[in-house]
Amino acid sequence: MAHKRYRSILLFGAPGVGKGTQGRVLGAIPGFFHLACGDVFRSLDISSQEGRETREYISRGELVPDDLTIRIWRKGLDGYLGMSQYKPWEDLLVLDGIPRNLRQAQILEDHLEVLQVVYLICKDEDAMVHRIQRRAIRENRADDGSEGVIRHRFDVYREETEPVLAHYDESIVSRVDAFGSPAEVLRSVLDVLIPIQNELFRDRRP
Ligand code: AMP
Repeated sequence: MAHKRYRSILLFGAPGVGKGTQGRVLGAIPGFFHLACGDVFRSLDISSQEGRETREYISRGELVPDDLTIRIWRKGLDGYLGMSQYKPWEDLLVLDGIPRNLRQAQILEDHLEVLQVVYLICKDEDAMVHRIQRRAIRENRADDGSEGVIRHRFDVYREETEPVLAHYDESIVSRVDAFGSPAEVLRSVLDVLIPIQNELFRDRRP
């Protein structure tokens, strides 16, 4: 089936690096629409078939199977399109948490025109684990309950997700130091994204 391909930015990086925080802040700025795959999963009714099935994987720190992931993610996207909360003619789609392996990246080629990959980098795994543990308490997240599950999420990231970077042309990958405060990281992310947005929507500004 042929889809419209949405102009997208991918926020990429290890668990706990700050993709969700940066995505949410960007999503509050007119001209960006943020969609986190994990948020789509967490919004499912847990008594539904999809809710039950995905929760099993999420609570173990495993990836949800690709076809199920893409189907649920696409349904989430279509919901925002249907409500005109995401307006592709004026918003850049900011994705985080997807694609998480090479197969997802290939499937998404049908759905997305990836303009830029923002690779948030933090080498301090312990700092990220602590951040995730604080978030687990704040947001009551089932996947972040134990350190064992969190460490497993890092293994999955290294084995399955990191290789996804090679799928994208080096010229569209920007590396951003994610170690600073959210505001500092945001400045670096905006340095990358503002020129892209200006170029795209040049004709639309009043
Ligand atoms: P996140 O909120 O991005 O950290 O995602 C939380 C959990 O949801 C992950 O540990 C996975 O179990 C699942 N998940 C999120 N996005 C994906 C994806 N693209 N593919 C498979 N599983 C995912």
